[in-house]
Amino acid sequence: ASKAEGQNRLHIFEPGLLLVRRLRSQLVDDLRAAIKGQGLVLHYQPVVELATGRIEGVEALIRWNHPSRGLIMPDEFIPLAEEAGLISELGFWVLNTAVGQLRDWISDSVVDSRFSVRINISPTDLQSLQFIEDVRAVLTETGVRPEQVVLELTEMAIVKGNDLDRYSLGGLRGLGVGIEIDDFGTGYSSISYLRKLPVDRVKVDRSLIVGLGTDPTQPALVAAVLQLVRACGLEAVWEGVETAVQADHLRNLGCLSAQGYFFSRPLPAEQIPALVAAQSSAGNTRQ
Ligand code: C2E
Ligand code: MG
Ligand code: MG
Ligand code: MG
Repeated sequence: ASKAEGQNRLHIFEPGLLLVRRLRSQLVDDLRAAIKGQGLVLHYQPVVELATGRIEGVEALIRWNHPSRGLIMPDEFIPLAEEAGLISELGFWVLNTAVGQLRDWISDSVVDSRFSVRINISPTDLQSLQFIEDVRAVLTETGVRPEQVVLELTEMAIVKGNDLDRYSLGGLRGLGVGIEIDDFGTGYSSISYLRKLPVDRVKVDRSLIVGLGTDPTQPALVAAVLQLVRACGLEAVWEGVETAVQADHLRNLGCLSAQGYFFSRPLPAEQIPALVAAQSSAGNTRQ
């Protein structure tokens, strides 16, 4: 009986798999066209100084404006780009678009010289020496100060990386850009590498703060993580802040910077100037 079922199942699944494969290869074609054309867009989410509400910078987050499927989120197409060998092209586009946007905001006096743009880097970018040259080139072309560009790398990319990755990290750091470990605390952390790596900051994953305000043990955990990060000579940014209660807890625990829907969702570039203007006057009057 089980054998018959198994054969049955095969018959049911085969057309399905073909369909999935065809859809996938269509999607890959669409993505290739989007990278070359006008199909990708960056949204920008503010990173806020907790003490004042001042917007310190933004994180660039990619979206794909698909002609028939609408806006597609990165978790759905970044893996596809990786598998299809399109991730380097995508990363190049993100780098140049985000730093170009920063240059425009600087020359329009929307932001000052302390303002930074954070850019998510794929493990593939980290493994490529070409990427270092691309970063160097965009800094030269735009004249943006390297300290105003922060590259975000996931823990996994770094921990699973080889010696070449460490070399690349050092090369990137040598250009003067900031390096931040993204999604910190999601399972690959090792205290020894935190101390050794040439990084400036960690961005703590939202899973570490979801319980703030509901779980009474959570503040102590956040305090411990902050202490650990600082003991390694680094600073922490807290991501995924959705409520005033979470923001208050983080501020009271001595955390400096945070990001999340409570402060602002990721927004199209056009909406950033008004927000920065409003928050910088707020930052001046508060406290
Ligand atoms: P990430 O770098 O950890 O980005 C944070 C994600 O959390 C973003 O999702 C952001 O929209 C979301 N988020 C922000 N605040 C909140 C909040 O308060 N609550 C909740 N629940 N979520 C919040 P998004 O934009 O869908 O990006 C997902 C991931 O895709 C990013 O995680 C990053 O790993 C990757 N990604 C995004 N843009 C790029 C890119 O340009 N290049 C590469 N290689 N990866 C990217
Ligand atoms: Mg990130
Ligand atoms: Mg993250
Ligand atoms: Mg993430």
